[in-house]
Amino acid sequence: MSPHSIHRPHGPAHRRSIALFGGTFDPIHSGHIAVAQAAQKRFHLDAIYFVPSSRPPHKTKRALTPFLHRYAMVALACADHTGFHISTAEAPPEGAATHVFYSVDTVRRFHREHPDDHLFFILGADQFLEIPTWKNYEALLDSCDFIIASRPGFRLDALRLVIPPERLGRTPSSDPNKIVLRKSVIHLLTTVASHISSTEIRHRLERKQTIHGLVPARVEEYILEQALYR
Ligand code: ATP
Ligand code: MG
Repeated sequence: MSPHSIHRPHGPAHRRSIALFGGTFDPIHSGHIAVAQAAQKRFHLDAIYFVPSSRPPHKTKRALTPFLHRYAMVALACADHTGFHISTAEAPPEGAATHVFYSVDTVRRFHREHPDDHLFFILGADQFLEIPTWKNYEALLDSCDFIIASRPGFRLDALRLVIPPERLGRTPSSDPNKIVLRKSVIHLLTTVASHISSTEIRHRLERKQTIHGLVPARVEEYILEQALYR
């Protein structure tokens, strides 16, 4: 080892690994944090960008909490963790209350803004199973690597069924937690098993039950101060 490499273990050519983690985060909860921490550790991520969505294409039935509140809660949660960042990539454009964003476009934008980085997209298993309904999902599958977090109630072996056979790579991986596609890799993150959902948190708050421990402490304070989800 040269003395130089002792001080710069990765050398000047170290390629950063970054991930984007999208969602409505209404509100962000400890399950999201557990997923991000497990991914950060397993894939040595230099940065995780949480991307609160002003209005994702598939969540239109329920009125979402205003973007500003959801954004503020994600920012509060990120403040406690090194390497967690918040992104405005899916913030509503100025003057608009909401705007529909598509993941395929958001990934393209991240590639443009971080051209030298290795990009991952983090999703829970429930969301990945929906992926065939997303805009240009085949292009999305080609566009970056994926980290799919296990989520109680969703079988990871079902994930293979939503991948079009022609998207699969020629040589399957011997690692059961890795699905090799033609242009990308899907990694299954099996070290996390959180039952928490934003739906449950909203229901608990509607019924005036405690959410202590289910969301980061600063987020709990914010929800109570702002009287959200009453
Ligand atoms: P809601 O109940 O409103 O759908 P949610 O808890 O699913 O909320 P989202 O904002 O929809 O949270 O999720 C953002 C991303 O985080 C999605 O990819 C989702 O699959 C993932 N995710 C959320 N909670 C968990 C969990 N407990 N375990 C694994 N992945 C999760
Ligand atoms: Mg959800």
